[in-house]
Amino acid sequence: MVGIKGRRKALTVVAAGLLAAVAVPGLAGASDGDRTDEIRSAFYGGHARNVILLIGDGMGDSEITIARNYAKGAAGRLNMDSLPFTGAYTTYAVSKDAPNKPDYVTDSAASGTGWATGHKTYNGAISVTPDGKPQPTLLELAKQAGYRTGDVTTAELTDATPAVLAAHVVDRTCQGPADMAKCPDNDKAKGGAGSIAEQEIVTGADVYLGGGKQRFDQTVTGGGTVIQQAQGAGYNVVTDKGGLAAAKPGTKLLGLFASGNMPQEWTGPLAKVGGTAPSKCTTNTAYDPNAPHLSEMATKAISLLEGRGRRGFFLQIEGASIDKRDHAADPCGQIGENVEFDNAVKVALDYARSHRDTLVVVTADHGHTSQIIPLEAQSPGQTATLITADDAPMKINYATNTPGASQEHTGTEVRIAAQGPQASNVLGVTDQTDLFGTITRALSLR
Ligand SMILES: [Zn+2]
Repeated sequence: MVGIKGRRKALTVVAAGLLAAVAVPGLAGASDGDRTDEIRSAFYGGHARNVILLIGDGMGDSEITIARNYAKGAAGRLNMDSLPFTGAYTTYAVSKDAPNKPDYVTDSAASGTGWATGHKTYNGAISVTPDGKPQPTLLELAKQAGYRTGDVTTAELTDATPAVLAAHVVDRTCQGPADMAKCPDNDKAKGGAGSIAEQEIVTGADVYLGGGKQRFDQTVTGGGTVIQQAQGAGYNVVTDKGGLAAAKPGTKLLGLFASGNMPQEWTGPLAKVGGTAPSKCTTNTAYDPNAPHLSEMATKAISLLEGRGRRGFFLQIEGASIDKRDHAADPCGQIGENVEFDNAVKVALDYARSHRDTLVVVTADHGHTSQIIPLEAQSPGQTATLITADDAPMKINYATNTPGASQEHTGTEVRIAAQGPQASNVLGVTDQTDLFGTITRALSLR
């Protein structure tokens, strides 16, 4: 056994603890009713036909609260607040050279490897253990078992969170065949399995939707591009909304809607030292009109994956740029991504309403830098003040790195919420690696 494996603790659920751990849908402020029966009826184990796993990258409790305050008001509720079971999970990575030691602040590669494979690893690793050994992923296991599979993101499809499901490399930067400097042993030219882009095509998920066309345009060893390899492997490759809309079930789909990351939803003032004037966010008028939004990709992915076969589907949907705009101390950017991610959560919940055998999990990979601070606080970092849905000022602080430098992830535990078969396993405090067990059990993968 390599590294620190998450240990599942027996969950002794007592009524008081359970009520404290559960979100309160539709109730603003104080709870005014006994919800015991409602919660009891949401408890069931057994088998799920489908799993929809929604990852808000960098979506810690602070990011959720900022988005809620801005978009719904402090007493409002997001779609993700309505799932019946909510818990917290720990996210730490491990040291590459001393895998028995934690690295308290994880990146998306190590955290994604945690739920994708059930193994702790080091920052930068894509579904390999600290000794570089590939581990089977949820998507690979689901596909082997006959489920249809999908991987959707607003980042490049070769970025860490989508990559952990469908590739195994020792460094997350090895995204395309021309990016292999840090993964000599994975290089095709040296007999390895190749870059993340190449491995994703070989893994062969039914649906890949996101950005990162630049990686798939690169030339592979022996000639041709990764896109040509994908077409050779039977993929319908589309690059705009029209192509996505026209895609039909039964053919594998690779949607590449941006050269790099997908465009951001909202814009507004960047946080700065000394603060900003109170402002509101605006829709990004420069959003590529040919690029779908995350909720549109989610809707299409579900419609392509669902069907009457013996098996259902496993689908991961990532809102990637909550993290990326948080790094940039861009509060409106971050909130817009979080709100669109919440729209994708609604798509999943709407599907689950008529497909009760669907396990829906909404979680994050790690916490991030943004914090709500008092209006009078004098932060040494960058701040911005936004006027929220409450018509009240909210001051947001970015101070996990020198002003102007990329703001950093944090090592906090994060929310995990769920509904459907096996959902109650998210209650209490678990570890990211436990999610692998919850999903493999739900889909009877072991
Ligand atoms: Zn990040």
